Amino acid sequence: MNQSKTLLNPDVIIVGAGVAGIYMLHKLRKMGLVTVVIEKSDELGGTWNWNRYPGARCDIPSLEYSYQFDENLQQDWNWSEKYSAQPEILEYLNHVADRFELRKDISFEEEVLEAQFNEELSLWDIKTNKEVYQSKFCIFATGCLSVPNKPDIEGLEGFEGQLLSTSYWPREEVDLSNKNVAIIGTGSSSIQTIPEIAKEVKNLYVFQRTPNYSIPSNNGPMDKEIEADIKSRYAEFRKENWSNGFGIAGIADEALIAESDIDEVNNQLEENWKNNGLGFFGGYADVPVDANSNEVAASFVRNKIKEIVKDPETADKLSPKYHIGGKRLCVDTGYFETFNRENVHLIDLHSSPITRIGESSIEADLEYDIDTLILATGFDAMTGALTSLDIVGRNGIILRDQWKKGAKSYLGLGVSNFPNLFTITGPGSPSVLSNMMPSIEQHVNWIADCIGWMIDNNKSVIESSLSAEEEWM
Ligand code: FAD
Repeated sequence: MNQSKTLLNPDVIIVGAGVAGIYMLHKLRKMGLVTVVIEKSDELGGTWNWNRYPGARCDIPSLEYSYQFDENLQQDWNWSEKYSAQPEILEYLNHVADRFELRKDISFEEEVLEAQFNEELSLWDIKTNKEVYQSKFCIFATGCLSVPNKPDIEGLEGFEGQLLSTSYWPREEVDLSNKNVAIIGTGSSSIQTIPEIAKEVKNLYVFQRTPNYSIPSNNGPMDKEIEADIKSRYAEFRKENWSNGFGIAGIADEALIAESDIDEVNNQLEENWKNNGLGFFGGYADVPVDANSNEVAASFVRNKIKEIVKDPETADKLSPKYHIGGKRLCVDTGYFETFNRENVHLIDLHSSPITRIGESSIEADLEYDIDTLILATGFDAMTGALTSLDIVGRNGIILRDQWKKGAKSYLGLGVSNFPNLFTITGPGSPSVLSNMMPSIEQHVNWIADCIGWMIDNNKSVIESSLSAEEEWM
C-alpha cells in the first residue's frame, strides 16, 4: 500500500500523540503503512504532557498502567513507585517513542482543524494549521479527557492575579509559597493536588460543588518482591487482568453484600480501603446494582471521612450523599487529612455559589482576597476533542451535529456516516471506567487488525451501520 505515498498523502493519519497515538503509529508502521501522527503540542504524552500539576499521578498501579505489547519493554522498564507520578509516566512514554523510533513520524505543533470525507475518492481530506493531507484512513487518538472546561463565571477574564489550570500547568516551577490560593473543583485532579499545594501556600480556599468518594492510594516505593513476582509471569498476569471487566488485577466481583455477614463485609472493606485503591468495592458484585448494598460501601467511606476530618461540619460537607460509584472513584494521598490544616478552608458551593471573581478576589459566602486562582474544573469529557473541530462525513454531515442528541458509535470505534474513520476509546467504549492502557491497546489492535483485513481482502471502505450502532448503544 505504501509504494507511492508521501507524507502529505499517507495511508493513515493519526490525530494525537498520547498513549493511544504512539502505539497506533508503531502498530501500523510494522504493517508497512505510511503513517503520520499530528500532535498540537510540542511534546508527546497527551494527558501526561498537559497535566503537570503537583501531585499528578496515575490511580492504577504502574505495573498495570503501562504497555503490554512488547515483552522486552515491560521487562526492561522499572517503575520507582506503586503509583507513578506524572514526570515518570512522561519519561516512560518518551522512552517508548525513542525505543521504537516513533518521533520521526510525528509532526508536533500541528493541529487538525478539519477532516472531511471525500466521497468521490473515498479519502479523508485533512486540514491542519500548517498543511493539507489526504489519507485513506483517519484515526482520532485525541483522548477522552483532553479538552479542559473553562467555567463561565462573571469576572474571570478580569482576574489580575496568577491564573492556573491543572490541565495546562506550566512546565516551569510554580512558586505558591506564602500565597493566598483558591482552587475551583474537587474532582480527581484537585484531590491529587490539594494535599501537595496546601503544604506550601499561606491559605488554600477550596471551592467544592460535588464531594467525591476517594480511597487512599497507600502509595510508596515499588515493592521489589511484588515487581519481581509480576515480571516473572507478566504475560499471564496481563491475561488475567485483560479478561476482567475493568482491566485491573484483583477486581473480580463475585460475592454479594446482600448475602454476606455484615461484619465480614466491613472487614473486607477495611482490607480494601488499606490496599485496593480503585478496587475498593471489588469483590462485591452488587454494589453498583443494589441500593442497600451500595449504601453499606458508601457509609463505610463516609465514616472514614468522619474519623479523619476533625471538624464535623467540614467532614459532612466532604461526604458524598449519592451512591458510591455513581461518579468514578478517586484515589488520593492524604486528601481528607489536608482539611485538618489550619490554612485550608472548604467552601460549599451548593449553599454559597461563586457570585463573582474580582481583580484579586473571589466571592461566594465571603469575599476572599487571593493571589492565585487554580481551575480544576474538569474536561469536556469523551466527545470534546471530536466535536470541537469539523469532522465531516457522508453528505456533508458534521459529527458534532450527528451527536447533538447524544454520542452514538459502534464499539466506541466507528461511527455511521464516517467511513474509514476510527476513534480510540471513543464514546460508548469502556474508556475511563477501565484501566485505559489495556483498553487503548485493545482498540489499537482491533483497528490494526481491521485495516489489515481490509488490505488482505481488497476492501476499500468500512463503515459502521446505524443498526449496529443502535444495538451496541
Ligand atoms: P491523550 O493522552 O488525551 O492524548 C490526546 C492527544 O491528542 C493530546 O496530546 C492532544 O494534544 C492531541 N490532540 C487533541 N486534539 C488534537 C487536534 N485537533 N490536533 C492535533 N492534536 C490533537 N487513565 C487511567 O487508566 N489511569 C489513570 O490513572 C489515569 N489518570 C489520569 C490522570 C489525569 C490527570 C487525566 C487527565 C487522565 C487520566 N487518565 C487515567 C486517563 C488518560 O487520559 C488515559 O489513561 C490516557 O493517557 C489517554 O491517552 P490518549 O492517547 O487516548 O489521549
